[in-house]
Amino acid sequence: MTASAHTTARLLIVGPQGSGKGTQGLRIAEAFGIPEVSTGDIFRANIKAGTELGKQVTAILDAGDLVSDELTGALVSDRLSQPDAEDGFLLDGYPRNAAQVQHLNEILAAQGTSLDVVIQLDVPREESIARLNLRSAEQGRSDDTPEMIAHRLDIYEAQTAPILEAFGARGIVERIDGVGGLDEITERIFAALAARGIVRTAAV
Ligand code: AMP
Repeated sequence: MTASAHTTARLLIVGPQGSGKGTQGLRIAEAFGIPEVSTGDIFRANIKAGTELGKQVTAILDAGDLVSDELTGALVSDRLSQPDAEDGFLLDGYPRNAAQVQHLNEILAAQGTSLDVVIQLDVPREESIARLNLRSAEQGRSDDTPEMIAHRLDIYEAQTAPILEAFGARGIVERIDGVGGLDEITERIFAALAARGIVRTAAV
């Protein structure tokens, strides 16, 4: 048997905008050798490249609204069927509402798999707003204006936070305190995953 360079893990990271889930998600994906699948990143890359999909979603992202479940679901289904996602992935930004949870269940059930762990990154609204204002100043993202920030956090609280209940009922949610230093938070996540038997393997 050859040494494995990755760990099988089907993970989802959920947290409000500004919780640091993008940063933490990347770190985890890298550590486990699994692809990070971020729907927001996929949409932004398409907008930047001027693709047909990008043109379809530009106004929606600028308004801080959600892209249709149909379009987003098709995108995720396609991405998760690619060979690099066969043994695991870290989803960031999908699912974001109850309909998307249902669709993801179906996508994974068709593969005979399911999510292993949902990482819930807890950050108070005030802290999220402060971090997003900072990111706005640094990166100039078009959906990071104060109004858009508030709008996206409202959508998160109304539609996304409730999906955690369904995952909680399955016993797969790990709630992580998202306030603290970046490394400290990464370590909290690794510790929670390790407690569920998901550990990093040495790369070969
Ligand atoms: P994010 O980077 O995850 O905050 O996503 C940025 C934007 O992409 C969101 O405000 C939505 O317009 C769109 N988006 C990302 N993921 C989804 C999703 N699962 N469903 C619908 N729209 C999404």
